[in-house]
Amino acid sequence: MIPVLMPVYARSEVAPVRGEGCWLFDADGRRYLDFASGIAVNCLGHGHPHLTRAIQEQAARLLHVSNLYASPHQEAVARRLVELTFADTVFFTNSGAEAIECAVKTCRRFHFAQGRPERFRILSFSNAFHGRTLTAIAATDQAKLRDGFEPLPDWFRVLPFGDLEAAAAAIDSSVGGILVEPIQGEGGIRVAPPRFLQGLRQLCDAHGLLLLLDEVQCGVGRTGTLFAYEQFGIEPDVMAIAKGIGGGIPLGACLATERAAAGMTVGTHGSTYGGNPLAMAAASAVLDVVADPGFLAQVRARAERLRAALDRMVERSNLFTEVRGLGLMLGLKLAIDSRAFVAHLRTHGLLTVAAADNVVRLLPPLVIEDEHVALAVEALEKAAQDFPLCQAA
Ligand SMILES: *Cc1c(COP(=O)(O)O)cnc(C)c1O
Repeated sequence: MIPVLMPVYARSEVAPVRGEGCWLFDADGRRYLDFASGIAVNCLGHGHPHLTRAIQEQAARLLHVSNLYASPHQEAVARRLVELTFADTVFFTNSGAEAIECAVKTCRRFHFAQGRPERFRILSFSNAFHGRTLTAIAATDQAKLRDGFEPLPDWFRVLPFGDLEAAAAAIDSSVGGILVEPIQGEGGIRVAPPRFLQGLRQLCDAHGLLLLLDEVQCGVGRTGTLFAYEQFGIEPDVMAIAKGIGGGIPLGACLATERAAAGMTVGTHGSTYGGNPLAMAAASAVLDVVADPGFLAQVRARAERLRAALDRMVERSNLFTEVRGLGLMLGLKLAIDSRAFVAHLRTHGLLTVAAADNVVRLLPPLVIEDEHVALAVEALEKAAQDFPLCQAA
């Protein structure tokens, strides 16, 4: 008999019912150190007082009104995002995939408005993850995302990640934009070489294309700057964000320059829930904390300490081969498949996320302290010591 939950997830045995800071608790009171953060969502940890209060107060005042009315809540958050980034304008969504959808539609309308609708295609990259909608899975070459859903629209050309020459060679009269994650998350915490992103920016400028960044996972302070692109010496034309921006309330956004959004006129896009007052209260509270330069400096300092501890651990280990990533978006590469090890880590009370390329993703709340770093490294080392080698074979 089919389970009441459509069986599309291989859910683990852990069933959290309560969270506090960097910890999750199950109904029996067993605690887990949360280095997954709901997949880079709970950037302030669990039960952060400022975020909790903002949501509680907003829930009591006004939850939802739709986008039929003026929204002072959305205008306030959008104004802050515009002031803090490259962008001039923002569309709010409920998820990352919807933010990607809006980015792609913005690109299509940009060229349509310029009288070049034939520039419908977008270059994307191998191992990319942009979400689960049909548009988002059309933008990747990952078979596990695409299997059974083909034919998919021929809107993307997927090229090797990091290969600037392949990108240059793929530009023809059908191409209107380039979509890329500055750091691939799902794809195994692969940081784009800065020269690659800079080269893509130059290609876009030279050919009249839009550069679309997917910062759904790496944005909102995760890498130690408010957005990852700040560390690559480039600015996008359009950027999709989500995950951390709501701190746990479902929220995404598509940010764009005035020029890039020229085609997004009345009636071209919409969302019933997108940017409702509850989500805006959450985003506002998250930005109060995360956009503070002092907080971001703390994230960088915490990240350096975690990174240094992991680097020392890797030197002592035969199981771990490499640490990679930026800020608190880190990947620990294993000599074996990472999924079994992520399961084993749970028995040591540490929650992490598996990724492609034998990588264990470490995505702790941005508020971790030294004690959490020490406990996580201790759990990783112990788990490596008693990891049943038969599973590794
Ligand atoms: C999670 C993720 C998405 C999709 O976000 P959803 O909220 O699950 O739709 C898109 N891009 C990246 C890089 C992601 O990590």
